[in-house]
Amino acid sequence: MPPEAVQAFAAMSRHFVRLDELHDAVGRRIAKLLSCEAAMVTSGGFGALTLGTAACITGTDPERIRRLPDTAGMKNEVIVQKSHRFAYDHAVRNCGVRLIEVESEDDVERALTERTAMMLFLNKNEPQGRIPAAKFVRLGKHLGIPTLNDAAADVPPVENLFAHTLLGFDLVAVSGGKGLRGPQGAGLLLGRADLIHAARLNTAPHSDTIGRGLKVSKEEMIAMMVALEVYLQRDHQADWREWERRVDVIREGLAAVLGVMTERFVPPIANQVPHARIRWDQRLVKVSAAEIVRELRDGNPSIEVVPVPYEEGSVEIASWMLQPGEAEIIARRLGEGLASATRA
Ligand SMILES: *Cc1c(COP(=O)(O)O)cnc(C)c1O
Repeated sequence: MPPEAVQAFAAMSRHFVRLDELHDAVGRRIAKLLSCEAAMVTSGGFGALTLGTAACITGTDPERIRRLPDTAGMKNEVIVQKSHRFAYDHAVRNCGVRLIEVESEDDVERALTERTAMMLFLNKNEPQGRIPAAKFVRLGKHLGIPTLNDAAADVPPVENLFAHTLLGFDLVAVSGGKGLRGPQGAGLLLGRADLIHAARLNTAPHSDTIGRGLKVSKEEMIAMMVALEVYLQRDHQADWREWERRVDVIREGLAAVLGVMTERFVPPIANQVPHARIRWDQRLVKVSAAEIVRELRDGNPSIEVVPVPYEEGSVEIASWMLQPGEAEIIARRLGEGLASATRA
């Protein structure tokens, strides 16, 4: 978290507020900063998904809000592309809905019933689906069904904070504790004012609600807002140059190790920042990826590499969560680990 957000957190801890008033004010400010109709701070991207779904099911009806996750007699189906199913859709399922899987646009029209509450999109899986974001939004509008885009891990680039609501998604879920560097447990739900209002009714400080346990503290609310302000004002090009420099440091540190190859890459969507990929010829460098990962983790300081299902003889290092000087430490430790496996 940037120091400004930590200061805001500490300052708020010394004051009492009316939670609904703070929610209103913080939401208004965030919506203005992000040029969207409405916004609220949530308990992570996950909380945003649950509250967004609840809003689409209950609207402002107090009886429905009280009954969730019992959705008998309510709209309780969510349409999602098969390729957009993911672990976090549990946040949506928590509302007592059934996910109806589709592949084509025609499938969506066929899946539509009077029970359809929402259409769910997973931004990072757009390339895997047959229905791209713009078409998905148009379909939702045509059918009169609200669309929710999970774009939790899609900042940076900063433009993604604006792009999805601008495209017409009715709701957008963003993680506050990833690239935005807000409180780790915070997130944002952006979108239509009527739906954000309904989402607010489904969580704290309202007691008899599905989202009461997804409470956001007054400190997290204000720190999230300040972290967002700081993030929007950052020199994003300078950040990018620094990430590139760190990747260069790691690659240069390994250049002299026999049998080791390095490359720079940027994931095409989500976590879109420079990474280093390190591969080694296991005939020369006699160590497995799992062994290197363990060595880095057990050393001092402990180094955690990107938890991708690594192929043998390859690890990936992300550049953006490092403190000054840490790229140099990674280069040295990886270099030592791989070089000693060469001599072995
Ligand atoms: C991280 C992530 C979430 C959850 O966000 P939290 O802020 O950790 O709750 C949801 N969806 C996707 C795609 C994510 O990457």
